[in-house]
Amino acid sequence: MLDLIIKGGRVVTPEGVGEMDIGIQGERIAAVALPGTLEVEAARTIDAGSKIVLPGGIEPHTHIGIPVPEVWAGKPEVITQPPEAASRAAAFGGVTTFIDFSGELPITPGETPSTESIMEQVEKRKNAFSGHSYTDFAYHHILAGDVSHHTIGEIREAIQAGLASFKIFTTFHAIRVPYGNLMAIFEEVAKGSGIMAVHAEDDDLVMYQTEKLKREGNDQGYNLHIVHSNVSEDLSFRKITRMAEHTGVAIYFVHTTAKEGVRAIAEARSRNQPVYGEALHNYLEFTHEDYKKPNGTKIHTYPAIKYAEDRDALQQGLVDGPICTTATDEYTTNKDVKFFGTTIESVCGGHAGIETRMPVTWAKLVNTGRISLERFAAVTSTNAAKILGMYPKKGAIAVGSDADICIWDPNLSKKLTLDDMHHDGDYSIWEDFQCNGYPVMTILRGKVIVEDGKLVGSSSDGRWISRKVAPSVLANPTV
Ligand SMILES: [Zn+2]
Repeated sequence: MLDLIIKGGRVVTPEGVGEMDIGIQGERIAAVALPGTLEVEAARTIDAGSKIVLPGGIEPHTHIGIPVPEVWAGKPEVITQPPEAASRAAAFGGVTTFIDFSGELPITPGETPSTESIMEQVEKRKNAFSGHSYTDFAYHHILAGDVSHHTIGEIREAIQAGLASFKIFTTFHAIRVPYGNLMAIFEEVAKGSGIMAVHAEDDDLVMYQTEKLKREGNDQGYNLHIVHSNVSEDLSFRKITRMAEHTGVAIYFVHTTAKEGVRAIAEARSRNQPVYGEALHNYLEFTHEDYKKPNGTKIHTYPAIKYAEDRDALQQGLVDGPICTTATDEYTTNKDVKFFGTTIESVCGGHAGIETRMPVTWAKLVNTGRISLERFAAVTSTNAAKILGMYPKKGAIAVGSDADICIWDPNLSKKLTLDDMHHDGDYSIWEDFQCNGYPVMTILRGKVIVEDGKLVGSSSDGRWISRKVAPSVLANPTV
């Protein structure tokens, strides 16, 4: 006897879309069969009817339960929403796994870096999330500042222990990794068969523009796109892809923001380099013009939201390839924090996003007829699983995969309000956004966690996921 059968829906599988029945035994998918051919009893049968059955969403970029810099928050000891709240919102948004970060950020130059090993820092984060997450989770490990050769020497062991991806910044004061250290990191990650998650900006340009706008009295937050500019993305993406070519490392560009970034990724991929791009869902909707509205910088996520042609290039990148995933850079605070900073140096990054990513992507790209159901599953789940080393355990409706499933109602229309959201913050940048298609049930490893608008999972359900990237993903641009 099976534990669960989902029948009657249009199922998105690696082989295509069709009406199929899914049999679930324990935490795994035991069968994917033509309708009516699963001749076994099940403890429960869910009739998906006219709905769509998708692999559970994978959110590859969140910042949960971390300290907010005082320059953004205006006060000390502010923490982004905890894993209970973020994973609750994730579950309602059809998401079954998120990737957050381990590793501590030096806030001031010269600050003594942590003496803990990489894996000690990872364990600390695991302990903070275990027993407090409704969904599964993993971490990219942040390497920040003047990373020591000692830490670089731990990279391969950490990959062996299931870490898979490392995050670096090429800007932001003490967090920025100098290029010498970066080259050594790239070499070790390549040797260990991991992947780099890169926040790329040209630090010189960012610093110069910051000082220039301050000097000229133009340092209002609505000018963030002039500091974190198109040229900055162009130069930095190219420098990173060149260094990646020299070291043989695979690159996952977090939050691509400009048409120049999309082009740099596409060019690297045309040379068969394993380079993958991520787009944040607020960048698919807004432009820098929205920064000028009252409290308009609430939509801001670093680097900066740019021009209409950049928004369009990101959308097109999701349609035809160089942009492989959607993410949110989830960073939920209350509005007293988010609206506190009003200058190019003090606007708080991020917003509540983890719940809205899939519905917004659907509205922008499926409702407009620009992508298929297969591509929707790819850019909301499968590609993140492949690039970041969780496939086919995650990201697929296939025999042997974890039974992580999102049941989607393509006929459910709603105009979003804050009341629809399940995060801890007191605002949403998606107020009044029209959705025609929305997740209605979420299943984590065979257990229904959201159903009929209710959370029925437990915050002890979520587990840390060990990751390993497939050699093909590291050799060529395979998704
Ligand atoms: Zn981020």
